[in-house]
Amino acid sequence: MSAAAPDFAHTQRAENNRKRKAHHLALAAASMGLQYYELKVVGGSQAEADTRARVRRAARVDRDPSVETWQLAIGMLLARSATVPGVQQCARCDAYVLQVTTEAGSKVLIDPFSHPSGSVFPHTNGQGRQVARVLAGHEPKPDEPLYRQHTASCPASPTALRARARRCLVCSRELDAVLAARDPSYTTHPSCEPGEEVSDRAHA
Ligand SMILES: [Zn+2]
Ligand SMILES: [Zn+2]
Repeated sequence: MSAAAPDFAHTQRAENNRKRKAHHLALAAASMGLQYYELKVVGGSQAEADTRARVRRAARVDRDPSVETWQLAIGMLLARSATVPGVQQCARCDAYVLQVTTEAGSKVLIDPFSHPSGSVFPHTNGQGRQVARVLAGHEPKPDEPLYRQHTASCPASPTALRARARRCLVCSRELDAVLAARDPSYTTHPSCEPGEEVSDRAHA
């Protein structure tokens, strides 16, 4: 490209516009309790694409932002999680997390922003001590910000790694990570099942 040709995508106005959009996306993602890796745009999964679509709607960004805008937003979200008071880095994935202590004295890592599906309730107990209660599924949720245990979202947790490592025994392409994590007998794409092929042929 000649030095004289203006690069329209990178004019100051386009740049400011991108920053403003990224800022709104990062704020929306933080208010939804998301970690930066849940928006992964390059090499991400369908689940991550769906999450970005939800963030985009919450941020009231009308058109699908460019990869560059998302990368900027992801950087801003990461920076935001790094400034939450008391955060430390997860030893597995390096994400910023908070460590809380339960009444029983066990240490639990939580994601730094409260999340609608959170189950950890950090609070000050009767003795003025900072403690966290891990709510069981059947317990009523207090009308207070709840946090996800980091192991539920950590991309390097043993469960996440196992799910990601799962490949189809027939075609060796990746299996659905959610199904793979849930069902150990799911080892083959339904369309790759040898039995399926036979019955397809029988119908032909
Ligand atoms: Zn982690
Ligand atoms: Zn397959």
